[in-house]
Amino acid sequence: MLVLFLVVLSFFASGTAGAAEPYGWKYVVVPGDTLWKIGVRFGVPLQAMINANPQLSNPNVLQVGMQIYVPYKPSAFVDGMFPLKKGTYEPYTDNYGDGRTWSPDGSGPVRTHDGVDIFAPKWTPVYSAWSGTVIRKGWNEYGGWRLTVKADDSTVFYYAHLAGYASGLSVGSTVRKGQLIGYVGDTGYGPVGTSGLFRPHLHFGIYKTPEWKAIDPYPYLRWWELLQT
Ligand SMILES: [Zn+2]
Repeated sequence: MLVLFLVVLSFFASGTAGAAEPYGWKYVVVPGDTLWKIGVRFGVPLQAMINANPQLSNPNVLQVGMQIYVPYKPSAFVDGMFPLKKGTYEPYTDNYGDGRTWSPDGSGPVRTHDGVDIFAPKWTPVYSAWSGTVIRKGWNEYGGWRLTVKADDSTVFYYAHLAGYASGLSVGSTVRKGQLIGYVGDTGYGPVGTSGLFRPHLHFGIYKTPEWKAIDPYPYLRWWELLQT
């Protein structure tokens, strides 16, 4: 009975830790500090300061000497939007760079995972993280139903494994930040229409053009997530 209790306890403890895992550097509070003042000093909105410090029982009251987290801020796209709404997805990790083996001909050479997977129930709405122009829409053997949006002259955002698209989108369409673009799904890893070979999730990627070199989207996602209200 005790063993069962401990197993259950550790399950909840690890679940909580996963959700609240801090993402930032430690700052020691000095006299006169408030979260707002610290945020202003480091260019971090108050909402992000509050969200980055869930351990604070009262964000309005800081004690001198206590440690808080100042979230890491990406160098670009700081006003972006997390592509899934708060509470609709599971805690995620930085799985960019992990090994992946599926390939169209089944030869399965190990390639690296060039995005971050965010697990969520099928048909969870997906929103554009940034305003831009749709440059690719349709089936890709790896990404299934995918949407590629040009965010600026050297950056594209990639949304893959979608169950379906928002209506009215086609190549050349302009999308606004926060606009519904599609739905989480489990499509891909085969010919057109293949689905169900893995758990539904959004694969989000960022590529630098014209080389289409993948960069790690995790720092952007973590920052955008902290901007959520
Ligand atoms: Zn992925």
